[in-house]
Amino acid sequence: MKYLSTRDRSVHMESAQAIEMGLSRDGGLLTPERIPQIDQTFLESLVGVRYQERAARVMGLYLTDYTEAELLTFAENAYGPEKFDTEAVAPVRTLDDATHCLELWHGPTSAFKDMALQMLPQLLSAALKKTGEDKTACILVATSGDTGKAAMEGFADVPQTKILVFYPKDGVSKVQEAQMVTQEGKNVGVCAVVGNFDDAQAGVKRIFSDEKMRQTLAERGYFLSSANSINWGRILPQVVYYISAYCDLVRDGKLNMGEKVNFCVPTGNFGDILAAYYAKRMGLPVERLICASNRNDVLTDFLRTGIYDRNRPFHTTMSPSMDILVSSNLERLLFDLSGENDAEVRSYMESLTKEGRYEVSDSIKAALREQYWGGFCDEAGTADAIADFYHHKGYLIDTHTAVAAHVMEQYRAATGDRTPTVFVSTASPYKFCNHVLAAIGGTPKGDGVELLDQLHSATGVPVPRRLAALKGKERRFHLDCEKAGMDGVVLDFLR
Ligand SMILES: *Cc1c(COP(=O)(O)O)cnc(C)c1O
Repeated sequence: MKYLSTRDRSVHMESAQAIEMGLSRDGGLLTPERIPQIDQTFLESLVGVRYQERAARVMGLYLTDYTEAELLTFAENAYGPEKFDTEAVAPVRTLDDATHCLELWHGPTSAFKDMALQMLPQLLSAALKKTGEDKTACILVATSGDTGKAAMEGFADVPQTKILVFYPKDGVSKVQEAQMVTQEGKNVGVCAVVGNFDDAQAGVKRIFSDEKMRQTLAERGYFLSSANSINWGRILPQVVYYISAYCDLVRDGKLNMGEKVNFCVPTGNFGDILAAYYAKRMGLPVERLICASNRNDVLTDFLRTGIYDRNRPFHTTMSPSMDILVSSNLERLLFDLSGENDAEVRSYMESLTKEGRYEVSDSIKAALREQYWGGFCDEAGTADAIADFYHHKGYLIDTHTAVAAHVMEQYRAATGDRTPTVFVSTASPYKFCNHVLAAIGGTPKGDGVELLDQLHSATGVPVPRRLAALKGKERRFHLDCEKAGMDGVVLDFLR
């Protein structure tokens, strides 16, 4: 299977090269030339097997230049007991007959980014061998909080790689910051950027497309790659857990094979919900994709009107990993919905760069209305959902998951749809202790890692092992920079 750029179909490459590059030179996203199809027989064959095997089977459909044995080894390494605190890896928790929650935060950094970032370094490492690349890959990451830590954790001390993470100085939680600045590993670096996530992401994108920077780094023996969800190696491992969740529901007698489900996904960069879309397009029985946003409701408006308009205030919220106004992965959806029309995608993206907005064609609008439903939830709604789930359902959820939970209820009220729905839980509540504590009626004392104990004594819910271990850890990184200084930080890091 070949991979194409969403902005230029004549760019063709194998998946190993696509994973190595991260982003196409023309700024487009590297995307499979077609979407493999699965049927009931395929799904049935996955019902009785472990997560690791499901991952190898599903990923094998797309990564035809990797062997299934290779992929199985990677999956065993990525999702084994040393990394994940449950054998199920991505367990589904049933709340009532029609409501299930897919928990994606049982990995080493307690957020769903681990699902992909425990896998990507292995895919990349193997890709370097497959393509005969002898330069060192430098992974540049812009993070709204969770990606940076998960990427460093995945890439720490992986040979022939270095990783440099930029995070918005005032846009991440104290626990998230503590996780990043204490990261171990000889090949890692972290820098706070004065600005918000979009500033950090724009900086990284600019560096990627800077030809002079590329040359300088090549002379020093480096090339740049990406661990952001623009990298196909990030999206694909996420397709797996939607299929896996479906198989779990069938295995446990909660769903009949072939019966449809909805997925409700808390969304920022449109990566996680794009993975759900691919699962649907592959043939997984999915009715609706419910796209849940926080106060940064640019996607809600887009799904309702077909107009994407980033010219609006940016809100810092208690679900910071979704504080995003430019959802990069939407470009892959537009590519698919336009019938892989690269010229059409290019014109939308040019208009986004020049005017900060674009309006899609009528046929894309119709497809969006049929397959998606968009909703958003403000800060009070997020806190209400946490309180409601904790006090009435005995389930403690984080702020991002709460946005999904709230929007799922909005969807049900607005449409009357009774299709069983899986909402996605993307982080442990312990990553956002202050907001979670306040929402369930507690009074947070302080704002650092000491809140882990406070939330634990209030709820009795166990603290994830790695988060508990943060308390004694020494800070290793103190660097910060202005937006314009990011280039310099990269050049210093890659001396
Ligand atoms: C990254 C993240 C999201 C948003 O995921 P996208 O792939 O960017 O849509 C939601 N919740 C949490 C906890 C995250 O870390």
